[in-house]
Amino acid sequence: MKNKILIFNVTIVTLSLLVIFFSGLSVNKKSHREEAEKNIVAVTHIYKENYNDNITKNVPENVRVTVISEDKTVIADSEDQSIVGKPHENREEITAAWEGDPKVVTRKSQTLGKELVYYAEKVETQSGFVIVRTSIPVESVDAYVKNTIPTMIYVLISSLFVSYIASVLAANGIIKPLENVKKKLAAVNDGTYSGDVELSGDKDVDAILSEIDELGGKLKSSIDETNAEKERLDYILGNISDGIIVIDEHGTVGVMNKVARGVFGGDGFIGRNYSVLSADEGLMNAISSAIGNKTASEYEFENDGRIYLTSVNSLENGYTVIVMSDITEMRNGEKMRGEFFANASHELKTPLTAIRGFNDLIAMKTSDEEIKGFTVKTDKELTRILALISDMLDLSKLEANKVSVKEKLDLRAVAKEVESSLAGLAEKKKVTVTVDGQGFVEMEKEHAVELIKNLVENGIRYNNEGGFVKVKISREAGKVRLSVEDNGIGIEDECQPRIFERFYRVNKSRSRETGGTGLGLAIVKHICALYKADIDLKSKYGAGTTITVTVGAA
Ligand code: ADP
Repeated sequence: MKNKILIFNVTIVTLSLLVIFFSGLSVNKKSHREEAEKNIVAVTHIYKENYNDNITKNVPENVRVTVISEDKTVIADSEDQSIVGKPHENREEITAAWEGDPKVVTRKSQTLGKELVYYAEKVETQSGFVIVRTSIPVESVDAYVKNTIPTMIYVLISSLFVSYIASVLAANGIIKPLENVKKKLAAVNDGTYSGDVELSGDKDVDAILSEIDELGGKLKSSIDETNAEKERLDYILGNISDGIIVIDEHGTVGVMNKVARGVFGGDGFIGRNYSVLSADEGLMNAISSAIGNKTASEYEFENDGRIYLTSVNSLENGYTVIVMSDITEMRNGEKMRGEFFANASHELKTPLTAIRGFNDLIAMKTSDEEIKGFTVKTDKELTRILALISDMLDLSKLEANKVSVKEKLDLRAVAKEVESSLAGLAEKKKVTVTVDGQGFVEMEKEHAVELIKNLVENGIRYNNEGGFVKVKISREAGKVRLSVEDNGIGIEDECQPRIFERFYRVNKSRSRETGGTGLGLAIVKHICALYKADIDLKSKYGAGTTITVTVGAA
């Protein structure tokens, strides 16, 4: 910048001086010519007034006098004797004088090689007239050039010096405030801008500085806000009890809070691919399918004896968020409850079975009809208690939320099995059970049996004599649909939302009478949740009920 200003100024000064020099040269040349043209007339008049035969003798050095006869032959010449006696008629000033209309003519002398002014006039003599012509040189500009050049060089050097100083000062005057602008911009850029504007005194630069000041202020407050937001977020992430990991769309770990770092036992995961987190195949698959297919999933990740319920969610902006909750205590509690429940049930079953044995013994030994009647009632209650214990055990197993073996299961075969296991009940209730269609699912057989059995059993038990229960299996769009339809007593609209609750029974006495525990549909709902199956209820009081379960096909 400085150099450019310097070169510009020096060029301008040099050009100006050259223009001045050449203009002076031209003006000088013109004034010399005008001076000579004025002088030549006066000089000619002097020679004309003093005309005599020796007029061409003793002529001053710069003046040339030529005398030409009437017939335009040179009579005498002060400088060139060789032309005497020769005709000299083709000269413009001579012709003009001869014709009586003298005029000054300027031209370059072929003889002398320099510019001369010529003038001639007639001079009367005794024998007629002669033409006296004089010429003087136009003063050359060499002297001007000679005199001017040193001055010019002197002026040029001093001007260049002055111009250099002026340029440096001017450049500093411009660059210094600009450097201030540069410094401010750099401060805005690296976030250290403090907002103290030091005005330069230059209106234009100050306008830029004010704009920068405003921009810097806005940027600073937005950076401060972002930092405060980040601090808040860091605080929350640092103190939250769940592990949180954020992965970008390329699979790079961007955020990992303290708990998550503790789970994976390390600090150096940020900026690296998620595959360095763990070798657990299930967790890696859940993350890769969230990144690639935008699917959300839940996975129980076990590490160092701890169990983490890990939910992997893909966000719309391409990020994948993993939230890990430590559910070890919960699972241990569930396990202990389950164990306690299983032990208690087992402990209860033994004395209950013994009681049933004694009850049968009493029934066999007694002939008292009233006592026999009591033993029948006792047996019925015992059967109910044992069924209840069995359902509660099933439910507690399901709550442990474990699907250990998934096998390709023929639902039709399972339904047929259930049909024959409930044939006695169906016959007793005079209800026909049919199975139609086919479908394969991935399910534990025990769960499938439990599900179909509970639905078909309800269809039989809450039916009328001569009624039917139709089990239909169909396949559509990757799903298997199992529906259990009956034309039994149906369920009132207001009771329908509650029938999947534990121990909820529309009609307690009927349920008890038919051997219901109030847990059948709760078990069905749990099994459906385990396999992410949809369950749908359609019932009309007095007309019948259809329950449909839709589950993924195998
Ligand atoms: P329960 O052991 O009493 O049958 P469930 O959980 O299986 O318990 O059913 C809850 C209640 O829903 C039953 O008591 C009954 O009143 C009603 N219910 C279930 N299935 C049917 C059905 N197919 N028709 C009519 N009512 C039904």
